[in-house]
Amino acid sequence: MAPRPARLKTFKKIYIEITNRCNLSCSFCQPGSRSGAFMQPSAFEEILRKITASTGYVSLHVLGEPLLHPDLGVLLGKCHDHGLMVNLTTNGTLLSRNRSVLLEQSGLRQINISLHSFEQQDCESALDSYLGRIFAFIAAAVPATTLLVNLRMWNLKQTATPEEQVLSSLVLRRLERHFGLPVPLIADIPTGRGIILAPQVFLSRECNFTWPHGPAPDLGAHGYCRGLRDHVAILVDGTVVPCCLDAEGDIPLGNILHSSLAEILAGPRAAAIRAGFARQRVIDPVCRRCTYRQRFRHNNSGKPGAGSIKRVSSGEGNCAGDENKSLQLPA
Ligand code: SF4
Ligand code: SF4
Repeated sequence: MAPRPARLKTFKKIYIEITNRCNLSCSFCQPGSRSGAFMQPSAFEEILRKITASTGYVSLHVLGEPLLHPDLGVLLGKCHDHGLMVNLTTNGTLLSRNRSVLLEQSGLRQINISLHSFEQQDCESALDSYLGRIFAFIAAAVPATTLLVNLRMWNLKQTATPEEQVLSSLVLRRLERHFGLPVPLIADIPTGRGIILAPQVFLSRECNFTWPHGPAPDLGAHGYCRGLRDHVAILVDGTVVPCCLDAEGDIPLGNILHSSLAEILAGPRAAAIRAGFARQRVIDPVCRRCTYRQRFRHNNSGKPGAGSIKRVSSGEGNCAGDENKSLQLPA
């Protein structure tokens, strides 16, 4: 079956965590207690069967590095067979060894590369090597496919250390040089917006965020979030959670390997969260301490563009996480 865009589906996308293992250990990652696992192709197939009526897009990420999955090509092929377009989020370190698998998959729509994982590169030559492999992948992908590449730097913070600022500046300068940009990227990149660096290649900058797991102050009952409206997420063991931020499964709504998606969404906790958001009320205790939802009020205040760099709006999603964590590109 040929991939088709979502039309009149319940969710814009559904996140599927095909593995929660990762080859990095970023300081901003969710410290978790779940054991590492890879989703079996048979479980993945069952999940796809249960969600295809509800979405046209899957995003292969919640936590972990999807390019570590030993059956990645098989999983991508199954998405194509089910008519699902795929967004995938990666830290970018394993693109070379997966290049042929990624470029041969016609259902793959967008790759989000979390450049903010560059903090793992401990010297300039390591950073150059990391970026060089990413640039090589882009050079191979763009002429050969329609794949969109979203380079993410979701590391903006109020109190960045001098070292963090230097590292971010280095990355931005490498991007300017590589893509031959007419104005410096360092100047004024608005958050919540994507910048077109080259055909099919975008840069998005966002503030870093705090995972809702763990103790945090109650932020009150007034508010709204797109979780359970635009998207829902499925962890590697089949647990359904309302969003890609719930990487520890703190809001377990049910297990899709044991129930249908409709049954899970009709459950009391899911129904209460959804009904609350519809009334601008934050019902669930985990959501009440989640700072991520606050960006739905403050985002999209894009400042005027600089030089001839074009901007497009970016969407929501977690760090290494999504697609939205993916760009919402112009139609
Ligand atoms: S933030 Fe992403 S890349 Fe970094 S350790 Fe966590 S899952 Fe891996
Ligand atoms: S408020 Fe936070 S935890 Fe709740 S659904 Fe939204 S992103 Fe997820």
